[in-house]
Amino acid sequence: MKTEKYYCEPSKQIPQIETDVFIAGAGTSGCIAAIAAARTGAKVVLVEKLPVPGGTYTNGGIGTYSFYAAETNPERAKRIVGGIAFELAQRLEAAGGATGFVPTANDHYHSPYRFMADHEIYKGVISEMLIEAGVTVFLQTMFCGVAMEEERIMAAFIENKDGRRAVIAKQYIDASGDGDIAKHAGLEQVENWQNYDQVCGGPTGLVFGMNGIDFDRVIAENPEAAFPLGTTIPARDGKLPIQRFAFAHTAVPGKYKKVEELDINFFTSFQSIHPNEATYINNSKGVMTDASKAENLSHAEMQMRIKIMKMARVFKESVPGFENSYISWASIQLGIRASKITICDRILTQQEILEATRFEDEIGLYGFHDLSPRRPECLVREPGFYGMPYKMLLPKKCSNLYMAGRCVTVDIEAHMSTRNTVSCMIMGQAAGVAAAMCSIKGCDTRELDYSELRKTLLEQDVILEA
Ligand SMILES: Cc1cc2nc3c(=O)[nH]c(=O)nc-3n(C[C@H](O)[C@H](O)[C@H](O)COP(=O)(O)OP(=O)(O)OC[C@H]3O[C@@H](n4cnc5c(N)ncnc54)[C@H](O)[C@@H]3O)c2cc1C
Repeated sequence: MKTEKYYCEPSKQIPQIETDVFIAGAGTSGCIAAIAAARTGAKVVLVEKLPVPGGTYTNGGIGTYSFYAAETNPERAKRIVGGIAFELAQRLEAAGGATGFVPTANDHYHSPYRFMADHEIYKGVISEMLIEAGVTVFLQTMFCGVAMEEERIMAAFIENKDGRRAVIAKQYIDASGDGDIAKHAGLEQVENWQNYDQVCGGPTGLVFGMNGIDFDRVIAENPEAAFPLGTTIPARDGKLPIQRFAFAHTAVPGKYKKVEELDINFFTSFQSIHPNEATYINNSKGVMTDASKAENLSHAEMQMRIKIMKMARVFKESVPGFENSYISWASIQLGIRASKITICDRILTQQEILEATRFEDEIGLYGFHDLSPRRPECLVREPGFYGMPYKMLLPKKCSNLYMAGRCVTVDIEAHMSTRNTVSCMIMGQAAGVAAAMCSIKGCDTRELDYSELRKTLLEQDVILEA
């Protein structure tokens, strides 16, 4: 909704909170940034608009590959991601909330292992880690503005049940996904959602789960449409089992007419980490919209709730094996793959990713590319990983802000690599460590000595050479 009219809000004094590092968004990258900053010795305030930490990791991005270099053979696999991302995976496993690293035999992804976590256990484990690190967390709290002086953020404004507060920090991290701090600071942003239906299921998506599905019957009674994906592995040593199948209604035109009438992708993947439950169903063909805008977001959320309701009903009524099924959960908010990108000092290109380019200021290594199953030419070349430069976290025209997560990388093909969960966590850890170091040293983001940053990242088990 556009408004032509403006109301002049009366100015008033509001309570002030002082901290070293302020982070907007307790999602995939923001939680890791907060833990890293606190472990580096900074006082950290983390705000999240939802009632739970976790962000898109808990809303759909749960099927993580990507801890290893791009490779199809587990025996040749080289782990290239450590730090808090790997520690989190280990803690999820220890809490009985993960499948462990499962070799991806017959999987169509160029990743030697798949790691899946239970979204509810994730919420508990990440909460434990935030509390242990001593992060001050405000849930159900909206970041809603900044005060700027030239190219420096002076305060962030937040609102929650206590009212409006100003958070005065030395350094700020934008982990909101959409780049909300950058937007309010007036920094340059470009939209990257428009062509996302050409690279994957669209810029938005609502992941949900269904209980009561008879997996064996689905595969046995729909032989032309349903086929197993990867290896089925039972529960073992406290690890969750894994079973996946794809349902490609388009493989048998005319047979599943009601499914065809749904506005969904050509096949649906059903991923299970609990018996008889398709824990993650990811095919709702998201609404094409700029979900960083409030009205668009609300409309897309509602459209997707309607879509999954219809989808579940059609499968129940028309696909053998689904007769006793029902929706068991749906993510708390719409998943957003792409909306706005903030322009940073270094923008990774698809060519650099493909060519496994290395940089002199690396904060991590990464190798997964979400386009590789459909477009093998997108596979990262030998040795199967590229470097992530520090400068990709630094938004132009701001001296005390870091960007972390899916809000960087303009080129949508390159974004199909950098937006993935583990990549977002790598950026989060680097942004958190760097912001803490700047706040302690009293320097700006571009004045930080890279050799000192590198040393601290290595001390925190980040892998920088493989
Ligand atoms: C449907 C779907 C399926 C996916 N599947 C996979 C997959 O299988 N594997 C994979 O690796 N990746 C997957 N991804 C991608 C990946 O999960 C995301 O790109 C990644 O998690 C984004 O991390 P982030 O930290 O940038 O944002 P998020 O994790 O979304 O975190 C942003 C947080 O900021 C909060 N926030 C936003 N604005 C404000 C504000 N103004 N004030 C306060 N809080 C705010 C949000 O509520 C959210 O918690 C998927 C994504 C989607 C949408």
